[in-house]
Amino acid sequence: MKKKLTLCFQLILFIASLLIALTYGGFAGDPYVFMQAVLIYWVFTSLYSHLNVSMTKGNITIDYGIHYSLSLGLYAGPLGIFIFEFVQRFITYFTRRFTHTADEDEFAHTFYNIGSFAFIHSLAFYLFTYLYPTFSSVPFGFWILIIMLVSLTALLSDLNLIVIFILGNEIKTVREAIDFIRTRSIADLGKTVFSNGLLFVFLMEQRWDMIIALFILNYLVSYSFSEKHKSLQHKMERDKFKQMAYTDFLTEVYNRAYMAKTMDQLNHCQEKIAIVVIDIDFFKKVNDTYNHSVGDRVIQHIAAMLSENLSDQDFLFRSGGEEFTLFLHGRSYTESITFLEELRKRIANTPAIAEFKGKTISVNHTASIGMYYYKACEALDIQKAYVFADQLLLEAKRKGKNQLCSRNGLIDLPLTQRID
Ligand code: GH3
Ligand code: MG
Ligand code: MG
Repeated sequence: MKKKLTLCFQLILFIASLLIALTYGGFAGDPYVFMQAVLIYWVFTSLYSHLNVSMTKGNITIDYGIHYSLSLGLYAGPLGIFIFEFVQRFITYFTRRFTHTADEDEFAHTFYNIGSFAFIHSLAFYLFTYLYPTFSSVPFGFWILIIMLVSLTALLSDLNLIVIFILGNEIKTVREAIDFIRTRSIADLGKTVFSNGLLFVFLMEQRWDMIIALFILNYLVSYSFSEKHKSLQHKMERDKFKQMAYTDFLTEVYNRAYMAKTMDQLNHCQEKIAIVVIDIDFFKKVNDTYNHSVGDRVIQHIAAMLSENLSDQDFLFRSGGEEFTLFLHGRSYTESITFLEELRKRIANTPAIAEFKGKTISVNHTASIGMYYYKACEALDIQKAYVFADQLLLEAKRKGKNQLCSRNGLIDLPLTQRID
């Protein structure tokens, strides 16, 4: 039923535009000039077609390119614009059929496009003929009128599409309809205004050199923007991919792969760094007492707490299941100990909130920490320093967990320090 209504609307538009064309009778401008113009327009719009950005809404594909129909409509009148749209849209139809890129309802869309564009631009022609004498007497009157006509044709073409979308149930509220109209860009309308205004004047004066120059200019501008757009999009995709490859899925902090990369970079930085390994105590018990998903929540909770407490210079990685690694910068050995002790207490005093069997529960937990403090240099690579930090973590576990074991590699005391 809806499909029939849509077809009916498309057919009405087509018949109305055909009737207007036939009623008007002949061409408004010189038919010979019109034929030449159609040929040039067709060549250039075909050249442009690969630069057009298209958007699919429901089962209709809308092309966002510059439309040049207004200039031809103003020059040749209703019959001219009808013939132009008819030829142009059927060439597109057969090209799409031939290249197997046609939509399911391509034939109906072709009729819709011819009807809608011929109808709207015929209306623009009548308005221009009626209003131009008045507007020509004010400064910039011609351009003001063209701006009004381009805005009106854009609005009417959107309204036609909105009717189709409403009939196809793809737009249901006024808000959605307004949002659809809002997707128009003022810059695109501006391009249509100046391109069509100039083309119309050049057609009147038969300045073919200018017409071709204008098409070439538009082509070059669209081409360079489309290339920029493509390379930007590629870069964004690459960055996104990189980010995904280095981000831990569960906690959204850096993963082990990024840790390896960072370690290579830090190896020659000649800075004082605290390498810290943090492991949640008795974590297996959390999984066993509750379930894996509660365990996940605890891991996420600790990751969030750690990242909240770090400065921009520090690094945080999820280096294992319930194990995190930190690289702290810009702190002395004692400052690092104070900072980590604070962190250890905060972890022990802040339970994670999780859902279990339909109830909200809070899960208490503690963590053990190993810290090795040293200055990055060629003599001791960071991978070795990391092994020391890991050994210190094991020591903290052995000594009863929920504590920090650290060593200052700068003094290189074989000291294990415990702070309560
Ligand atoms: P310790 O105090 O000595 O660190 O003991 P522990 O139980 O914390 O450590 P253990 O190495 O015995 O167990 C770690 C558990 O962490 C085993 C594993 O199933 C679990 N685990 C690892 N990754 C994840 C994860 O992503 N989510 C959940 N829920 N559990 C995980
Ligand atoms: Mg553990
Ligand atoms: Mg562990």
